[in-house]
Amino acid sequence: MPNFPLFIAGNERDGSAGRVIAVENPADETLIGNLAVAEVGDLDDALISSQLAFAAWRNRPAAERGAILRQCASAILSARDRIALAITADQGKPLDEARGEVDFAAEIFEWYASEGQRAYGRVIPGVSHSQRQLVLSEPLGPVVAMTPWNFPVATPSSKLAAGLAAGCSIILKAAETAPGGTLELVRVLHEAGLPQGLVNLVYGVPAEISAHLLASPIPRGLHFTGSTTIGRMLAKQASARLLRLTLELGGHAPVIVCEDADPVAVARLAAAVKFYNAGQVCTSPTRFYVHSRHHDAFVEELSKAAAAVKPGPGTDPNSTMGPVVHGGRLKAMEEFVADAVDNGAHILAGGTRLGNRGYFFAPTVLTEVPDSARIMRDEPFGPVVPVQRFDSVDTVIAKANSTDYGLAAYAFSASRELTELFARKLEAGMVAINGLRVGYSETPFGGIKQSGYGLENGAEGMQAFLVTKFVSENNSI
Ligand code: NAD
Repeated sequence: MPNFPLFIAGNERDGSAGRVIAVENPADETLIGNLAVAEVGDLDDALISSQLAFAAWRNRPAAERGAILRQCASAILSARDRIALAITADQGKPLDEARGEVDFAAEIFEWYASEGQRAYGRVIPGVSHSQRQLVLSEPLGPVVAMTPWNFPVATPSSKLAAGLAAGCSIILKAAETAPGGTLELVRVLHEAGLPQGLVNLVYGVPAEISAHLLASPIPRGLHFTGSTTIGRMLAKQASARLLRLTLELGGHAPVIVCEDADPVAVARLAAAVKFYNAGQVCTSPTRFYVHSRHHDAFVEELSKAAAAVKPGPGTDPNSTMGPVVHGGRLKAMEEFVADAVDNGAHILAGGTRLGNRGYFFAPTVLTEVPDSARIMRDEPFGPVVPVQRFDSVDTVIAKANSTDYGLAAYAFSASRELTELFARKLEAGMVAINGLRVGYSETPFGGIKQSGYGLENGAEGMQAFLVTKFVSENNSI
């Protein structure tokens, strides 16, 4: 049995052809197990069980579905350490961060346990008293969900909890790089009493899986989180069957630090948020624009904070930052830094790989980074911070909006007038003023421009899993 089996129709199993993919520990590059590769026959089983489970689940009263989701939330919390260890083993983040991710997943399930009872419809007055015009919210159907490796438990939870609350079943394709946390989550949901077939978990060769699942007449939607390149490709595939699409894609969040902000306090907060998950967060603060008056104080404090980070294996309680997830990300960091330096940037902290075993990259601060550097427009997705100085608010807003991405944006200022201006003018699906967090269970999360469309979390997150039906009664005309 591979260490990371498929989970189909309530049962764990090998891929039917016995193919496997090696799964690595990014902290020491050792092999920790093999993942089962789903074949066409396995995917067909997942599709059929998903269809059968949907037929039963959609008819359960929302309150009953909610009760099961609440059981799931409490089971996730009870299995906190077990799930966190599985996350850290193949994704690499420190155990404390992994535990925080598990807590967030439980919170999402708890929140949707109640929200599922608020899939309200409407009654529209008819032209006569006998006529009734009803607008009903109904579950969409079986949905394919695909997730990346950076939050292997929280991201699937947003999709599963909202989808299940709405009455849908989900075929989840987890990331092959870090399958352990997702597998443990799915096991726990079933231990908590989730009916079989409602959540099927597959992985293997991503292009083979998407080609087969998205061509099937069974799924009604695709809910994808990942890179813009793959999202765009899958959107094309999904269009052949006109699947309902939600695309949560890449980001390149600008951070504006104004003349009336406290540069030291912002630098400390920035370091805590930027190096969280080794910078591998879609909403991670990415390009820093700091007012000239504060630039030197800001970069000095940020460099101090970067040097104080303790990179190390996630299982070591002294580590405050884990490795990046694989060798490809490490190489990408080296290339981003080399390109920025070639373009005239200075390295104030870090800038290199740490050691020669495990994918550790030093928390890095780059200053005087020109717009021509690749890191100012391509998503770094790692622990590297480029900083630029600015003097004019109009110019900095134009720069903040200058990339193709539009996921998150941040601004720090004590002026009400300026913060209102930023809230209105920054082109992003989520804007945080005087803070660096945008993800909560109860608020909508999603991007615009090349960061995708559709939302997850909050009341909006359930809409991706609902269809509207109009029912006209006694309309004799
Ligand atoms: P990715 O696009 O490579 O992978 C995401 C998913 O797509 C995985 O399940 C992967 O196996 C699958 N996939 C990859 N290639 C495929 C193919 N050819 N056909 C079908 N499926 C394929 O992204 P990643 O490297 O795992 O994750 C990092 C990216 O995800 C970053 O761009 C990041 O910004 C983005 N992300 C976005 C959000 C958000 O909510 N907007 C959240 C987290 C991560």
